[in-house]
Amino acid sequence: MINQYSGVSPKGDLVLLQKLGEKLKKKSFLHVNSTRAGGGVAEILQRMVPMLVELGIKTRWEVIEGDDRFFDITKKIHNAIQGNPEKITKEMWDHHYEINKKNAERLDLEANAVLIHDPQPSPLVKFRKKGKWIWRCHIDVSNPVKEVCDYLMRYCSKYNAAVFSVARFTRAMGIDEFIIPPSIDPLSEKNRELSAEEIHETAARLKIPVDRPVILQVSRFDRFKDPVGVIEAYKIVKKYNDCVLVLAGSPATDDPEGEAVLNEVKEYAAGDPDIHILLLPPFSDKDINALQRISSVVLQKSLKEGFGLTVSEGMWKGKPVIGGAVGGIPLQIVHGITGFLVHSVEGAAFRIRQFLNNPDMAKRMGERGREYVRNNFLITRQTRDYLSVWYSMENKGKSVMEL
Ligand code: UDP
Repeated sequence: MINQYSGVSPKGDLVLLQKLGEKLKKKSFLHVNSTRAGGGVAEILQRMVPMLVELGIKTRWEVIEGDDRFFDITKKIHNAIQGNPEKITKEMWDHHYEINKKNAERLDLEANAVLIHDPQPSPLVKFRKKGKWIWRCHIDVSNPVKEVCDYLMRYCSKYNAAVFSVARFTRAMGIDEFIIPPSIDPLSEKNRELSAEEIHETAARLKIPVDRPVILQVSRFDRFKDPVGVIEAYKIVKKYNDCVLVLAGSPATDDPEGEAVLNEVKEYAAGDPDIHILLLPPFSDKDINALQRISSVVLQKSLKEGFGLTVSEGMWKGKPVIGGAVGGIPLQIVHGITGFLVHSVEGAAFRIRQFLNNPDMAKRMGERGREYVRNNFLITRQTRDYLSVWYSMENKGKSVMEL
């Protein structure tokens, strides 16, 4: 499997990956998150876990279970960490803890390294066994509600280390902190090359016209992704350029707000036959891939964003991208080089028009974007980084790590 990446991923990443794999062979690695489908964390784990297994590391992926109340609470915690003024009461925190306690009884938490993803399963650290415990934060923690963040840090500071996607998200936790941006898998169904027939089959089945430029945003129906702002930008563009807007999203089992946001979006889009709102089933990877490939412009107009895999996905397909200048998006979009960063609906509309009116510039930026992703945001680099962190923790105190 790793050999399949040769000629695709940078050679140095592959060499280091193999060497780190040798060092950590036969050790056990456990990942825990809160959903198998929907959102970036599940997207990455689906591909990374088999890669780690192939490297000879005994890797497991467990998913915590909870009732509706638990996921309502964790979505509120998520929103507060991303800056929404939510209040989490003592009873809510207690329920969060109790559900994690039940999961700790059910799950085998024994492993040499344990990577706990995001706030939902963070209290599991209270039930830790031996091994290195690492908290992996995927969300935008640049400006959290202080009380909620402080409470969460009671758990997070019990880990051996924390990993954030962006330097700005790190905080004074009193434990080791590492910066590892997420990544996409160039060989997955979501990102592999598609034939023209495959692309057209998807467009025809989903009834997306291809006779006009398609503007696309792929994301969960979440207010932080600003789907209404995307429609507002499209409405401005539409006065001057004939085009089609596609908003594609699918539900995530750990996100109870999706339906309400979807209804808001539908209401806002009502009456315009050129706005296509697609609620795709989980694992519609080939369809998302095809939609990204038929698009003229890929948007991720988020207001808060941990990283935004959809940006790298669009760039990998050579598409010009426009993203909100928040969280992990500026890591991927070098403004004016690999895409455009925007701060408003008007800014987004302006940049969409710029791309639609200058196809040569759009193509050039798309090409640069693809190479930027190749060098920085492929899964081989991220797996290498996780293993480097683990290996460095096993060799703490040494100034040189021999590979
Ligand atoms: N995604 C998908 N179907 C959808 C919406 C999103 O497969 O209908 C995928 C998308 O392609 C990306 C991931 O889910 O790989 C979302 O990750 P991102 O980092 O953009 O956002 P998150 O949902 O983690 O906030």
